[in-house]
Parts: sequence; structure tokens; C-alpha cells
Amino acid sequence: MVDQPRLERTLKHARHLEKARHIRVDAAGGIVAGEVDGILGELRYPLPHAIALGQWRGEPVLLSLDEATHPEWPSGREWLNQLPEYAFELISTALQVSHWRRDHRFCGRCGKPTQQHRNELAMVCSNCRLRAYPRQSPCIITLVSHGRQLLLARSPRFKQGRFSTLAGFIEPGESAEQALRREVMEEVGVEIGRVRYFKSQSWPFPHSFMLAFFAEAVSRDIHIDGVEIEAADWFEPEQLPALPAVGAISRQLIDTFVNGIAIQD
Ligand SMILES: [Zn+2]
Repeated sequence: MVDQPRLERTLKHARHLEKARHIRVDAAGGIVAGEVDGILGELRYPLPHAIALGQWRGEPVLLSLDEATHPEWPSGREWLNQLPEYAFELISTALQVSHWRRDHRFCGRCGKPTQQHRNELAMVCSNCRLRAYPRQSPCIITLVSHGRQLLLARSPRFKQGRFSTLAGFIEPGESAEQALRREVMEEVGVEIGRVRYFKSQSWPFPHSFMLAFFAEAVSRDIHIDGVEIEAADWFEPEQLPALPAVGAISRQLIDTFVNGIAIQD
């Protein structure tokens, strides 16, 4: 198997770099097309306000933010659908860093302007020195199952007909396992027995850190809240509804569970 490129997070600052790749993100999260991997352009001059993201295919990669919006630039979601799965990390990082950079131009404590730290991914207040790092919001995402059936639900935000796994933010002071049991109870009224960790994904819309689990239901009656969830049901693996895009961790949970059943059968 050929090694796929990864974002090596070794580059700490963008000063004095005269030759690098850059990814340009606009104020609405659109990304302009580039020559390498669809989204990386060649930079032939120093870019004083660029942010170092790391190394990609042995070359430094910088993020440059465009203050305007360019409706013709494809959105981050469109790029994720178009590009191979290995580009996910690069796109996710660029979108989250650009989002953070835009949202921390002023100090959250004293309101004075911030400046970028020289060597760290941090915005520092010019007055009180408070530092703001890129935010990651931890969330649980879980595939609830009972026997061979999958509990899938849809939010009013989803495309018509699409169902997915359950997800929610972890609240302050709460463990991931507690958040999982609480969210499932709140959203569909189902009690959870055993849980098993699957894997994680840093999801850039806007900055959710998804911790994925398989969860076994010990009750079957579904009571939806009608707000976050507008429909939920138990599905047989052979009769699944429309699902999230391949690459999303919700889809990986579903595919892994269904493939496991296929092997057992
Ligand atoms: Zn301040």
C-alpha cells in the first residue's frame, strides 16, 4: 500500500519562509483551488500574516486568510466530498484554524485587540496577555444497537430522508461515557448498557472533537424530544435509510457495525 500524505505538525512559525505551499480560506470558509491535492497553491513570496500548519509531502504549508468572501470558491464541505479521504486532516485543520483566527481578534476578557503568538498557535491579548488557543469542543457520537438492529435518527437540519447516529456535546465536568448515556436518554429515551470506544475525529463544522462509541441498548421504546430529533427508529442492517457521507465518523460507525454482522452471519 502506498503511504498517503499526512500533515506533519512540525512547523511552528511562518516567518522568513520564501517557498511554501499555501491554502487560502475566505471569510465564509470557502477554499480556493490549487495545483497540489486540489487545494494547495505555490507561494513564491513571504506572507507575513500566514499561519504555519505543518509539513505536507515534505513542504511547509501555510494558511492564508482572505478577509473577503468568494462565492465561487468551493466550501469546505464541497472539498471534503470531492477530495480523497487523506485530504480530510488538511482541510479540517485549515478550516478550524481559520475559524479560530477570525473569532479571536479581540480579547474575551478585556476586549482589547489580540496578536498572534510568535511560535504557538495562540492569539495573545495586547493588554492583559490572555491567550486564546483554537477551540476544540468534545462531543460523543454513538451508534446504539440492540441485537442486530441499529438505532438511527434524523435532525431537522438533515437532507430529506437521511438518518444518522446520535451525537452531542460533553458538558463541563462530565465524562464521555456519562455524556453518551445522558444524550441518548435525552434524544430518544433509550437506556444504555455496555459501551465500547471506536475512534475519534476532529470535525471542522465548526470545531467538534468527535469521540465515537458503540453502545448497546437495554431498552427499546423510543421517545424523541421533537426538537433536536424529529424522527428515530430501529433499522435492520439490510434495510438502512439514506446515510451520511463516507468519511464522516457516523458513517464509519454504521459501516463497521454492519460489516461485523455480515461476518457473523
Ligand atoms: Zn485582554
